Amino acid sequence: MLIPRPTHRTWSGKVRWSPKQVLAPSGEDEILAALRTAREAGSGLRVIGGGHSFSALVATDGVMVTLDGCRGLVRADTDSGLVTLRGGTRLWEIADLLAPLGLALPVMGDIDHQSIAGAIQTGTHGTGARCTGFAGMVRGLRLALPDGSVVDTSPSQDADLFEAARLGLGTIGVVLEVTLACVPRYRLDLVEATVDLEEALGSFLADSAIIDHHELFWFPRTARATARTMRRVPQDTAVRGPGRLVGTLQREVLGNGAWELLCRGASLAPALSRPAAELASRVLAGPRVLDDSSAVFTAPRRVRFHESEWAIPAERLGEAVAALRTRFDAEDVRVSFPLEIRRAAPDDVWLSTAYGRDTVYLAAHRYHREDPGPYLLLVQRTLAPFAARPHWGKQHWLGSRELGELYPRFEDFRAVRAAADPDRMLLTPYLDHLLG
Ligand SMILES: Cc1cc2nc3c(=O)[nH]c(=O)nc-3n(C[C@H](O)[C@H](O)[C@H](O)COP(=O)(O)OP(=O)(O)OC[C@H]3O[C@@H](n4cnc5c(N)ncnc54)[C@H](O)[C@@H]3O)c2cc1C
Repeated sequence: MLIPRPTHRTWSGKVRWSPKQVLAPSGEDEILAALRTAREAGSGLRVIGGGHSFSALVATDGVMVTLDGCRGLVRADTDSGLVTLRGGTRLWEIADLLAPLGLALPVMGDIDHQSIAGAIQTGTHGTGARCTGFAGMVRGLRLALPDGSVVDTSPSQDADLFEAARLGLGTIGVVLEVTLACVPRYRLDLVEATVDLEEALGSFLADSAIIDHHELFWFPRTARATARTMRRVPQDTAVRGPGRLVGTLQREVLGNGAWELLCRGASLAPALSRPAAELASRVLAGPRVLDDSSAVFTAPRRVRFHESEWAIPAERLGEAVAALRTRFDAEDVRVSFPLEIRRAAPDDVWLSTAYGRDTVYLAAHRYHREDPGPYLLLVQRTLAPFAARPHWGKQHWLGSRELGELYPRFEDFRAVRAAADPDRMLLTPYLDHLLG
């Protein structure tokens, strides 16, 4: 079970680390053995899921554990929709596991490479005013704690441990199994359109209240956005659109190949950024597609980028974008990537970015060959007055002092974490910085 491995890096390439040992357990006993190995060696341990976080959450010079060998369906109850999956199960596998049961995930984000445990640990989300992020769908967790014990938690069983562990940044224990509340299978009718930014922002809260899954992509310094609306339709509605083969070709050639060339050109000649953004803002909208929900929610993202994402109270969207536009003009910001605007329902997960508030997300991206720092920091500073909470898996520069003020249950989380891992085995300097 010991694999010699060189340096690891995040998907965007920003964070690199060299664990002294990489372990790939294939079941619960081997996970417990990995925890024992780290404990006896007095070394830190971090679990990696899909490795798709932008921040240094997984980085460790101690033991890194991959749960790629711990995937698949444990049990499902088709009446209640409760489905239990092993922690390492990738999101792209879940649709295939759920389909024969007549079930689906209530919502997904932009990609499906994450593991289910990694997705819940950072508060991964999609868009939908009636949908929470993945952590809000969790109804039970089976955890291996640093002391070697295994516990089953739920809202009625070790409730505080459950609340902390369902979005725990991998600092409470190793997530062995996740029980999710799923929904009957459905298809999505996707319509994309180029829209006027002011109008789209003005009606975003009303639109997203009635459209099941609604989002905007705004190219900074332009007055346009691409609106992406996805309406749920019954599973037996006929598939329509360019066909999966043509759709894949379109996504790969236009969505990834041409996009890479545009971004690469703009990174070499920054003066091209604005015309590139102008052009992209007019042509991003794709054809109408009606297909299975998992095929519509997600798409391959082969053009690499850096990303920060901020959760703000939904009602402050207009003010927040106005503040960004003012700062972008003042600083003559030139970026080729759009800013993504999404919505989520309030939830009660202690460290959720949507804890206790109707939420709008603003996600800023920068092409991976460009220095993301100045732009992403400008976005962070501009959104700070809006009580903006950073996505835990994405880049930001906040520490425990600021985060403590943003999360009413931060101290409760810290107390549960300290009790679950008194020897701080699952912490790293980066997590110390976040959690204090
Ligand atoms: C191209 C791209 C697109 C993205 N799109 C979205 C999006 O649409 N919406 C969104 O919200 N986010 C998005 N993200 C962010 C991403 O969903 C999160 O960062 C997510 O955590 C990544 O999941 P992962 O399995 O790769 O986790 P990793 O990055 O591997 O790990 C994340 C955290 O989970 C912990 N962890 C993983 N497995 C376990 C386990 N079994 N037990 C305990 N802890 C564990 C790790 O220790 C770490 O703290 C995107 C990222 C990329 C690169």
